[in-house]
Amino acid sequence: MEALGTNTKRRPCCICMWKTKTCNKNCEFAAYFPNEMQGVYASANKLFGTPNIIRMMKLAPQDQKPMLAFSILKEGVAWTNDKIEGGFGVIQNLMREINRLEADLSYLRKKISEEKEKKQLGLLLNK
Ligand SMILES: [Zn+2]
Repeated sequence: MEALGTNTKRRPCCICMWKTKTCNKNCEFAAYFPNEMQGVYASANKLFGTPNIIRMMKLAPQDQKPMLAFSILKEGVAWTNDKIEGGFGVIQNLMREINRLEADLSYLRKKISEEKEKKQLGLLLNK
């Protein structure tokens, strides 16, 4: 299976599409913003603007470009879905979920501990 954006018959990447320029096979953005991500890219473009996305991508160290591209796309979606809190709202929801799950885990650990104690007491009383 080929990675997104590396196929030779591919359509132009999202950045080349927005800039209405030819997307050649050596396009530096094709691997990060393949044509298949147009819908998601539209949100990122609305938030940052393609010139700023290009600037950010060019300034990022090579090894961090995949994470930056992923982050740009996720921020775009977050702001499209929640125009007040954007990515912060996503983080807050995840924090609430973590807190809820930690409370559940704590409750379950306490229950397990209580059951172990009951079992040990039962074993001691049956001797
Ligand atoms: Zn391109």
